[in-house]
Amino acid sequence: MLTRLAPENEAELTDLLERCHAAARDNSVPGKDSLPEGFSGTIGHFPVYFPEEIAHAGGLLPVNILGGGNKLELKHADARMGSFVCSICRSTTELGLNGTLQDLTGFVTHPICDAAKHLAGIWSRNLPEQLAQILYLPQNVNSRGATRYIAAEYQRLRADLERKVGHVISDEALRRSIRIYNENRRLLRELYAIRRDEPWKVSCAESYLLMRAGTRMPREEHNAILDQAIDLIRHRSLPAQDKPRVVFLGGFCEQPPLEMLETIDDACFVVDDDLLVGLRWFTQDVPESGDPVWALAESFVERSAASPVQHDERKTKEGYLMEMMRSSKADAAILTAAKFCEPGLDEQLAWSKHLDQAGIQYLVLEFEEKMTSFEQMAMQVETFAESLLFALA
Ligand code: SF4
Repeated sequence: MLTRLAPENEAELTDLLERCHAAARDNSVPGKDSLPEGFSGTIGHFPVYFPEEIAHAGGLLPVNILGGGNKLELKHADARMGSFVCSICRSTTELGLNGTLQDLTGFVTHPICDAAKHLAGIWSRNLPEQLAQILYLPQNVNSRGATRYIAAEYQRLRADLERKVGHVISDEALRRSIRIYNENRRLLRELYAIRRDEPWKVSCAESYLLMRAGTRMPREEHNAILDQAIDLIRHRSLPAQDKPRVVFLGGFCEQPPLEMLETIDDACFVVDDDLLVGLRWFTQDVPESGDPVWALAESFVERSAASPVQHDERKTKEGYLMEMMRSSKADAAILTAAKFCEPGLDEQLAWSKHLDQAGIQYLVLEFEEKMTSFEQMAMQVETFAESLLFALA
């Protein structure tokens, strides 16, 4: 599926994508003996956004815990959670209970919804040797003092991580990590710019794999992969196809299966999306001088993306959808939500109402990370794409 008819460097790009695909399939975290050089442990964190720079500066490898995908069998988690809880919460719990995540130094979650908030409690009871934390990011970033509050919360996290690693996390180390992460975000912005400008050169599934690899490897290594891949993608010579341009929304927390993205790619150019938006949370560079913790906190308030789990009156639900469509010159939208995801379903309702009023076409899809059958979805997407092409002709 990933291999394309070959321009010169296609084999090299395919190798890179296969490497990223293997990383995406691997739910485990490195143990003490297999940690990358310079790291003494791992911090797992739940979506959507986590200030990875703080863990990275302390020598803890940040690993974005993204559930179990569609190959994991649940044997323990169902006894601890209701069946109405979203799949990513249940599979993450399973990975904790079945030993896959036993090498984590700590696990941090956020109060993005009731289900995610309670993961920390489940973790501390069942994996008492790990640091289990809730990072309280503000629900409302417009309140006065939001930056000060976030900075204090980051300092608390920093102090907890310092105790765990047994040394101080210096401002200089933090500034160095911010520089590395700024480079990562710049590369991801470049990748997304190609998606918008020349979507035939890189599919949504390929871009997703390239991005997702960064959730479980040092950013230094990920930067090198992205740098190489972007260069290869720019030199690809693939013919532009007749497909409608769509934006994909709903991938901010639980991850849609790769096959679902490939199904959509087959019929549409996905010119923008909110997949793994936490990795691209800052829309501009975080300042690399001054107080690094303040710089991260202020960037969260002033220069950040939007998602259904963050209230910000400057970014209305309709506003950021329309901005995404405008900047990517999309013809239509694919609005998805993970099954049982309350924030996602709320947003989906608001988006669809607004698109109805604006006369813009959209397709609503529901997904679960553990989905394995895509035939029906393929038919829906194909029919949607054909109707769009007909309307645009
Ligand atoms: S998928 Fe939705 S309901 Fe589940 S943890 Fe994420 S935000 Fe919460």
